[in-house]
This record gives sequence, C-alpha cells and structure tokens, in this order.
Amino acid sequence: MGETKVIRIEDVSEFVGQTVKIGVWLRQKRGSGKIAFLQLRDGTGFMQGVVSVGDVDEATFKLAEHLKQESSFYVTGEIHRDSRSEFGFEMAVSNIEIVGESEDYPITPKEHGTDFLFDERHLYLRHQKPFATMKIRDEIIRAIYDFFHKDGFLKLDSPIITDSAPEGTTELFPVKYFDKDAYLSQTGQLYAEAGAMAFGKVYDFGPTFRAEKSSTRRHLTEFWMIDAEMAWMHQEDSLKVQERFIAYLIERVVDNCQVELKMLGRDVEKLRAYTKLPYPRISYDDAVKLLQDNDFKIEWGVDFGSPEETFLAKRFNSPFFVVNFPKAIKAFYMKRHPSRDDVVISADMLAPEGYGEIIGGSERDTDYDYLKQQIISQHLDLSEYSWYLDLRKYGTVPHSGFGLGLERLIRFIAGEDHIRETIPFPRTLNRLHP
Ligand code: ATP
Ligand code: MG
Repeated sequence: MGETKVIRIEDVSEFVGQTVKIGVWLRQKRGSGKIAFLQLRDGTGFMQGVVSVGDVDEATFKLAEHLKQESSFYVTGEIHRDSRSEFGFEMAVSNIEIVGESEDYPITPKEHGTDFLFDERHLYLRHQKPFATMKIRDEIIRAIYDFFHKDGFLKLDSPIITDSAPEGTTELFPVKYFDKDAYLSQTGQLYAEAGAMAFGKVYDFGPTFRAEKSSTRRHLTEFWMIDAEMAWMHQEDSLKVQERFIAYLIERVVDNCQVELKMLGRDVEKLRAYTKLPYPRISYDDAVKLLQDNDFKIEWGVDFGSPEETFLAKRFNSPFFVVNFPKAIKAFYMKRHPSRDDVVISADMLAPEGYGEIIGGSERDTDYDYLKQQIISQHLDLSEYSWYLDLRKYGTVPHSGFGLGLERLIRFIAGEDHIRETIPFPRTLNRLHP
C-alpha cells in the first residue's frame, strides 16, 4: 500500500470515494457521545469531518472529542459528496495526527465587537469573512495585472519616498531622509506621467499614504493605488479605458469568486449588471443642480460628501462618472477646459449603492507656462517640480490618466461596510497594531 495522498480542501472534488490526508485547523466542533462533527479549514477552503465511534479506535475518538478550536492536525479519511453540507463535501475521518495544540483561542463562536476582532486581526484573518474578502482581493489584484498586460500597458513602479506633495500638504506623512525632509508617497501619478512619455501606456501599483485625519468608512492612511497614464490620449478615451477596466474587474470576481461572494452575502446578479457599458456621465454642474432640486444645501464649487454621492448613485444604479469639476478643488496639473476657466477636464468614477468615489482622473495640462504658474499659485515648491515641468519642455503630448484605490474597489465589489475589512492589516487614524 502506498502513502496516503496529501491534498488541499480546494481539490476535494477530485478525490470523491478516495482516502486522503489533509493538514487542517479546527474551526468548531459539535457532537454527541457517538459522533463528532469537526468544522475544518486549511486556508484553501472549508469542510466538515465526521468521526464516528464505530469507524475509529477509541483513542482516536477521544482525541477528536477533545480537540480545541484552532488546534492543527492531519486528518485522514474518505471523501464523500454531501449535498446537505454547505461546502458540498465531507470526510469520514479514520485517523487524526495532532501537530499543534491550541489553548483558549480568543475568537470564540460568540459575537465579538469589531474593535476586538481587529485587535486580533492576526488571528481573525483565519475566519470566513476575511477569508472570502482576501480571496476576492487576490482575484482583483491578478485581474488588474491581466487587464493592463492585455491592453498594452507597461508596469512602471513609482517611488514611495518622495520630496513632493502633489495632492496637497495637509495629508502627508513626513519621513526623515538622512538630513532632508521627505514624505511617503500620496500618489505615483506624476512619475507615471514621466513613464507615459517614455513607454506610451504605463501603470503603477503600490502602497500609498495619506494622513487622513477623519475616520470614515472609506479612508485608510495606508492603501494600495493603481495609477494609469496614457500618452496621446484625451479624456474621453481615458473614460472608456476606465469603464472597461472596472467592468472587467467586476466580471473576473463574478466569474471566479462565486463561493466567496455567497459567503459575504453579496448579490451576484447585481454585480453582473454593473458590467454593462457605457457607464453614465453627468457633469459636475448638472449634478449640483440635481442635488439642489432635491433639497441638498450644496453650493457650486464644493466637493461632494457621502450623502450627495449616495443620492447621485441612486439615480444611476451603476458605476458612473461625474465630469468637469471646479478647478479650485482639483489638483494643479489638470487640464483647463477649452471654453471655461472655472472647471477642469476631470472625472471621478463613483460606485453605486453609496460606496462612493473609487477613481479620480483627468486629462493633464500640457503647457509649460501654465503649469509653472499653477505650481507657484498653489504654493508648491517649484524646485521640486522642475523634472515634472521638463515633461512639457521636451515633446509634450496630450495625455490622460487616473488613480484607482484598490480597497475602495474591493469594498464595493465585496459589499463591505467598512474599508478596514478589505486590507490584511488596516492602518487608520486609530489603528497601527497589529
Ligand atoms: P476622497 O475625496 O474620497 O478623499 P480623493 O479625492 O482624495 O478621495 P484621489 O486623490 O483622487 O482621491 O485619489 C485617487 C483614488 O485613491 C480615489 O478615487 C480613491 O479610490 C483612492 N483613495 C484616496 N484616498 C484614499 C484613502 N484615504 N483610503 C483609501 N483609498 C483612497
Ligand atoms: Mg481625499
């Protein structure tokens, strides 16, 4: 007789009727004096193991009865299809070999508060909700690379330590850089523009830092951002890339994460509807009018808050763009409107159901003198931007780009209440541990 094959739970469907061995942790157990039901996980999935008095020797049955939550062991047994089980398969256990004991595991089956769960995040990651969310995160990350690769983009990473603050100086994390002052990057965008002039279409994907002083459901202080930048492209074509991009990412999750979406209670049909293109566009002007007509006390010129975004989202019931924001509330590099000097050629993509902004983007101004003036009037340090101005000095071309917050997108697709659920170890105003 050969050695029993060691497999993973995600592959059990290929081993129905066979005796196999799996390295597992115990989630929960219940049973009577004659039978023990073990809820098992191995990191690739979940299943039930059934230990019956008649099938195992007395010592093994005793062992099964005394297993503690999150103890680790090899379990051996025959795989059965089981339509009553929520995971579709079961193991009729014939042997258990303990590997690691576990005493007083803190996250018990009773309800725990969110703060407690995030204090125990290093353990909480083992549970079903984080499992489903992180699998979706992983699928989205792979889909992002696939999309850009197929679309002819080059991945060009932006630095994380910088000397400039293109999105304003109020949300910066300073770092000491030898004897100089430096900052953790708020966006890789300016560097992506240099990349676009070198490689045509580029994207970066990396950690981004903003000292957000308010705690909301959609702000982290450390998050992952994708900046895409495209040379020889005007804003209208950039919007088309953005909507194809988001629809593709949603589709990938719908196709490959059915089980995870179900675990999270996310309606797959609703998501599928969000892959229909094009996404609606509304101008900032019209959005303000619409809000004012519906009793919002918003003035032209201010940014939308969460209630405004949620209201607008209800009108469209799909991701949508708000285009051409007031110049005064947007970054210095955005392209001037050809016939108005109070708005810029920009667009935010907003997710439906109140999830709010997921993308910020624009066409970039190409004029050296204008941008220099913008840098000065926004009180930025001209010397830090000399390299950026060079991009307009040597063969400037029309170009557009956008920034997507990975965790914002996961929150929307996975249907998470709070953005902290979407990143393995969240960093927020009040959390730096674990
Ligand atoms: P908001 O108005 O919601 O703070 P923003 O206008 O500051 O967003 P941008 O500067 O346009 O955002 O950044 C591009 C994208 O990065 C946003 O659309 C969003 O998806 C993401 N993002 C920005 N700030 C955060 C944050 N603190 N946590 C997570 N994601 C963020
Ligand atoms: Mg912000």
